[in-house]
Amino acid sequence: MTIEEEVLILKEVNYKENDKILHALSKTRGKIQLLSKGCRKNNSHLINASQLFAYSNCTLFKSRDMYILTSAQLINSFYSLRNNMEGFFYGNYILELINYIAQENNVESKIFNMTITTLDFLSKSKNNYDKITATYELKLVSMLGYKPDFKHCMSCGAMINSSAVFSIKDGGFYCRNCVISGNGINVKYNEIITMDKILKIKFKDLNTIEADGKIFNIIRKYLFYHIGKDNFTTLKLL
Ligand SMILES: [Zn+2]
Repeated sequence: MTIEEEVLILKEVNYKENDKILHALSKTRGKIQLLSKGCRKNNSHLINASQLFAYSNCTLFKSRDMYILTSAQLINSFYSLRNNMEGFFYGNYILELINYIAQENNVESKIFNMTITTLDFLSKSKNNYDKITATYELKLVSMLGYKPDFKHCMSCGAMINSSAVFSIKDGGFYCRNCVISGNGINVKYNEIITMDKILKIKFKDLNTIEADGKIFNIIRKYLFYHIGKDNFTTLKLL
């Protein structure tokens, strides 16, 4: 059976003399493995689509539990990431993160599209990689079903309108009246508003937001708690 599918290459493993086995995120089928035959030869028509970060429209032949890549049209290689060490590390972290998540979860096409958008912004940016990455992390964890409530106290339901305590485990805030001391992270009201904005903002408007490492740390802790993993190899390079 031959199919057309948009894929993003997350991991490449050399196979036999000239082939690669590619771990890929597909737009409509979640995580898949592709066999790319002969792609390590210099004259292969599959060479560009068989590299890490390659985002392509592929023709695939389904063979038992593997797909064979028969032709590909490269849409974006995010090539400029390779010329920028910091952007490259953040890009690699995005690939490692979504590789793990797609293994454990049903990843919908809106997550695929957001991953492509994030890599595009990382490749075009000269700074703010941590802000772009935190935005991806917060939107991702929300799409996986753990969207924090930034507006109401989880205990009494009152509107949050001053500093509050964020519970990573419960996925929301406790107001000053409800907080049991020591069960969360103290967050200022302006930081709560910033996180809410990050959740809703489009990547192209990210430059309108000021955020710092404290917020990025909370977002990452929250994501890692809910996906059940925190030891990503690429993070050691950041
Ligand atoms: Zn309350």
